[in-house]
Amino acid sequence: MRYAETGYNLEIDLSRGNIERVETDSKLTELHLGGLGTNAKILWDRVPPDTEPFSPDNLLIFSTGLLGGTPAPGANRTIVTTYSPQTLFMGYSMMGGFWAPELKYAGYDKVIFRGKSPDLIYLWIHNDKVEIRDASHLRGKGAVETQELIRRELKEPNAQVAAIGLAGENRVYTASIEQGRSSASRLGLGAVMGDKGIKAIAVRGTKDIHLARPAEFYDLCNDVLKYIKFRNENPVPNVMTILQGLGSPQEMLHFDEKWHTENFMWGNARVRKKDYWNKEVEQKWRETQETVRTRLISCYNCPMKCGAIISVPGLSTYMMKCFSKLTYTMAAFSDLDFGFRIAQRATEYGVDGFSTPQVMAFAFELKEAGILMDADFEGCPSDNEGKFFWLLDKIVRREGIGDILADGTYWAAQKIGKGAEAYAHNNIKKHEQLPLKLGMLNPVYFLMYATGEKINITQIEGQFPQSPFMTMEEKKEFVKDWIQVPDEKFKQIVLDWEMRGERSNPYYPTVDMSVDIVDWQEKMHYIDDALGVCSGLSSFPLKPPYHIHNYPRFISSASGIDMDEAGLTQVYKRNRNLIRAINVRRGLRRADEKPPEDHWKKRFPELEEKLLDAYYKFKGWNKDGIPTKETLHELGMDYIGEDLEQRGII
Ligand code: SF4
Repeated sequence: MRYAETGYNLEIDLSRGNIERVETDSKLTELHLGGLGTNAKILWDRVPPDTEPFSPDNLLIFSTGLLGGTPAPGANRTIVTTYSPQTLFMGYSMMGGFWAPELKYAGYDKVIFRGKSPDLIYLWIHNDKVEIRDASHLRGKGAVETQELIRRELKEPNAQVAAIGLAGENRVYTASIEQGRSSASRLGLGAVMGDKGIKAIAVRGTKDIHLARPAEFYDLCNDVLKYIKFRNENPVPNVMTILQGLGSPQEMLHFDEKWHTENFMWGNARVRKKDYWNKEVEQKWRETQETVRTRLISCYNCPMKCGAIISVPGLSTYMMKCFSKLTYTMAAFSDLDFGFRIAQRATEYGVDGFSTPQVMAFAFELKEAGILMDADFEGCPSDNEGKFFWLLDKIVRREGIGDILADGTYWAAQKIGKGAEAYAHNNIKKHEQLPLKLGMLNPVYFLMYATGEKINITQIEGQFPQSPFMTMEEKKEFVKDWIQVPDEKFKQIVLDWEMRGERSNPYYPTVDMSVDIVDWQEKMHYIDDALGVCSGLSSFPLKPPYHIHNYPRFISSASGIDMDEAGLTQVYKRNRNLIRAINVRRGLRRADEKPPEDHWKKRFPELEEKLLDAYYKFKGWNKDGIPTKETLHELGMDYIGEDLEQRGII
């Protein structure tokens, strides 16, 4: 009997139209836990490193995590993995919602696609019955609309459907995969789905998941629910509103956008509006949000309600969560009403709400600079909002200049030339980042930005405060119930960290402390992504209900795997090194590990090199960021060391 997981994957060969149910190796679960970990193992084993993202040999994997679908609150993530067309490295993106639990209830841990379908199809998984169905009638349909059409066609109102829109069909690099109340948006995974000819995957499952020690597991789940209630009633004091609670930053709940609008960048991630927020704007934005926000919604088995149903008069409804509320608004120098309207169209097209607005703002900046010409914008309206709607249409249809921009700012700038590269200034590893420009270098964030394999800061940062507290009273207040720390030493760093003086950024936290902090943050994210638990309840908030001390008991009682903190740390290290090795095989080197040049005004090249050196050493990597044979041996992954050696990489 397999516990927590089903022990079966679905293997779909799209070129041949073949469907197989394949039993998995439980040993791999012990080593990697599932989710992101076993996705990475499959990619390493089965996809040669020189495979192009749009090759039929590339795999597209939809995975549940080890705890997905169990009663563990927030264990609902679908981990989608492939080679990214945008970065050319391993791309993985997580979506919440309901899809992954439903897949487990149907009897599968993963769906693995290989090959390409000659025609547009959708996959229908209904417990043991799995069919590849024609989707030609869904071509060009919106990602949200498609989900509803498929449910009606199947007469299965409870089917969970992950779908792409026009952007995915047209292999736009910023294409997302949309699913009910969430999306896998980053790194162009929707483009790979479209390239494989998959319009959607619908799933309905009614089977059980078995737990090794159910009574113990339920007790732990109840503790988490109690903690969530406590934290919701007792927000973390002395930090900004969005960091006080749990979940994703509750953008649909909050109205106060002073911090975002005045500190994040407008337009093409360059312009700061220091005194933007005032009573009048606040009142107007509050009214807008209250008008369009029908109700707050949660993902599967979670009380947090991070998302909302948005219903703009005259437009079809859609789901919004998190920062996409402001990305279009600020990229276009517009207001919130515009943001909600264009996000409706963008969600139907299925595009990433972080990258796409930046691509559009980048294009208009190139036009102003005379690098793109009037002829490139023939037919474009002159009003600000009209311009953005027009360009969004061009991008997702790959028409005219939209065809070049559809590859994201990095690749578009390469094609456009004439100095356009300098305008694609907010990228890491070829991928657009949060539009944030700051003053003084923060050593912890430097490392997270530079070395993160997810290439998205919100999937790396988390439990350590972003900046020092103002007074000793505030510091003491923060550390007094900080049970989540893996080691008491982190409390002392918070107590000693100052806004100014010797113990302030960039030299404090010190190099070694910074490495330690980053390792902790990463550890939690890698564990979440293997377990399928939402980072909003674990690695992302300051004081979450899941942490390194209670996770081992969750894993043991759910799966029967003997697990303690040391063992869990080994699993994290294994997964971290495996993903690093996959990317190293695809060319990742130290030179790629840098934040955007203009992310901080004050930079410290010598310190930054020291930080990278220390981080690599801590990880057991060489000076180029490549895991050494010894490190891989310690983790029981000699096969990686041998492969890297054979290729002349180490
Ligand atoms: S915390 Fe928010 S994003 Fe995470 S599972 Fe719960 S509702 Fe979804």
